[in-house]
Amino acid sequence: MRLFDTLTRTERELRPIDGSTFRFYCCGPTVYGPAHIGNFRTFVLQDVLRRTLETGGTRTMHVRNITDVDDKTIRDSQKAGQSLTDFTRGWTEKFHTDCKKLGLLPPHVEPGAVDHIPQQIAMIEELVKKGHAYLSDDGSVYFNIASFPGYGALSHLEHRELELGKTQNTRASSDEYDKENLSDFVLWKARRPEDGVNFWPSPWGDGRPGWHLECSAMIKEYLGDSFDLHSGGVDLVFPHHENEIAQSTCSCGGKFAAHWFHITHLLVDGGKMSKSLGNLYTIDDLEKRGFTAMEVRYVLIGGHYRKQLNFTLDSLSAAHEALAKIAKGARSLAARAGDETTLTSVDFGPFQSAWDSLNDDLNTPAALGGIFTGLKASADLQGKDAAAALAALNRILRALGLILPESSEKESTDVPADIRQLAETRWQARSAKNWTESDRLRDELAKLGWQVKDGKDGYALEKA
Ligand code: AMP
Ligand code: ZN
Repeated sequence: MRLFDTLTRTERELRPIDGSTFRFYCCGPTVYGPAHIGNFRTFVLQDVLRRTLETGGTRTMHVRNITDVDDKTIRDSQKAGQSLTDFTRGWTEKFHTDCKKLGLLPPHVEPGAVDHIPQQIAMIEELVKKGHAYLSDDGSVYFNIASFPGYGALSHLEHRELELGKTQNTRASSDEYDKENLSDFVLWKARRPEDGVNFWPSPWGDGRPGWHLECSAMIKEYLGDSFDLHSGGVDLVFPHHENEIAQSTCSCGGKFAAHWFHITHLLVDGGKMSKSLGNLYTIDDLEKRGFTAMEVRYVLIGGHYRKQLNFTLDSLSAAHEALAKIAKGARSLAARAGDETTLTSVDFGPFQSAWDSLNDDLNTPAALGGIFTGLKASADLQGKDAAAALAALNRILRALGLILPESSEKESTDVPADIRQLAETRWQARSAKNWTESDRLRDELAKLGWQVKDGKDGYALEKA
């Protein structure tokens, strides 16, 4: 598949560097409250990227971290009168509940910053040793951006900004700042009274790591010095990802990420989301209004990830209608397929354009359009042809991570929806040569009383 790359500003083919597994990293949530639907735009698009690769037969290794120590988590855990660990554990669990509702595949590894303090200290030691970092009078350690000629490449910093930043010789002790305040950034923050009990010993005294460092250290731990793709919302391009590149390339010497995937911010009612405007929606807020997380997912993939997407409650109602329409189409295909419902075809038949759109810079709105075109084109198909079209539709739906409304699914075939879903996931694992996972799912299906028979181009399900 082809995907736009922020660093080179071109669309490039995605291919695993190691020739077998596509290994990618996503900056995860800061767990000091519930994630909002803007955060989920980013996580859902990353999920569709992974699902598309897997549906196309590529094995993946997905790492997404949990930011469980920073200014905000420390501040709010103290306000809540809880230990940092208890506080962040609660919000991490809430995040997982929401992810499940939205149909997000759990990452293969989900490391937390607090569990990787030694790795972060080791990286700073390496940077100090190589002359890229220095201890300041306040006991904090900073990265010297003038020591890294590649600084600014990702965010395409202008020469003027760069020169200013390097000559001004200023330091940012806060994790978040803008391009106008370009400066050396903090790797190790010396202990402050407001941190309470949240500090760790280090060669430079008590303190805690700066936010940018955790991703570099965890990437090194789980993906090594060079890996396939790195991702987050656009706000992370500068300074977070720029700083990650600096830390990682200067300490490890590898190529770091081969590709950069950034998702444009979600707007609500035409503007920025904010607590004060009362438009900072969470999944719970929308469920209270009678919408489902699947409808939220549909809206979030309804816009191209490089374009602005405006969220409204009306768009959720439209998503409800659209999902019902697709479910009706699937039901009709299943009825016409009769006994042939369990065949999986290798091609996408009437849904080819939907599949092509996903592979063309992850064009999810075009893929959704392709589903309706495909349903129209398959309106007269019968028997085997209808079964093949239904299998193709199910593959597209899995790539998009869409689960059709329950009531429609029940009537669609003799095979229960959850069994079909399991069998489809297993087929995808098998196509990606992920034998362990495919065997595990075969056993799970067997336990539920269903036997899978594999053919060259598909599988059949039989009651054991
Ligand atoms: P945070 O929990 O703030 O660390 O953010 C988690 C992820 O959500 C990051 O990749 C952010 O870039 C992303 N993000 C934050 N706000 C939005 C938004 N309005 N639209 C899309 N992504 C966002
Ligand atoms: Zn990160």
